[in-house]
Amino acid sequence: MHAISPEKKSLNELYRKLILDHAKCPKNFGKQPNNSHYAEGINSLCGDKIRIYALVNKNNIIDQLSFEGTGCAISIASSSIMTTLLLKQDINYAEHFAKNLIMTLNNKAEDTNEFNNFSQIEALKGVREFPSRIKCATLGWQSFISAINNINITSTEK
Ligand code: ZN
Repeated sequence: MHAISPEKKSLNELYRKLILDHAKCPKNFGKQPNNSHYAEGINSLCGDKIRIYALVNKNNIIDQLSFEGTGCAISIASSSIMTTLLLKQDINYAEHFAKNLIMTLNNKAEDTNEFNNFSQIEALKGVREFPSRIKCATLGWQSFISAINNINITSTEK
């Protein structure tokens, strides 16, 4: 018998609230007028559709990062968290971070210390108890990786 300790229970509540807050009021939501990178990701299992817009400067720093789309609470919250964590980061660091997180959510990575200081990531990890929702949680991150590897797919300059 493994009773859930009160501490664990209140922590789970905290993480649930964090996800719901991001789903209700997503950060960095909406298309930017100027973006150097764009990608759209679709999770047909759930019907989630996420578009990622990024502007990377000449020093390889992500100056702007935003998303728009429709989907379940987890896909929206996860994309919102993604933009808050990767904005203003070095593009190589951001790609590494995103890949590592996707592996972690798919239980394909050893738990590293890398995410220890991120309560948002701890909250996302809760999705591992619901395998059918893992794609919802990784969609925004996967789309981010697609975006930064496809330069100027949608240039606003005609
Ligand atoms: Zn979903």
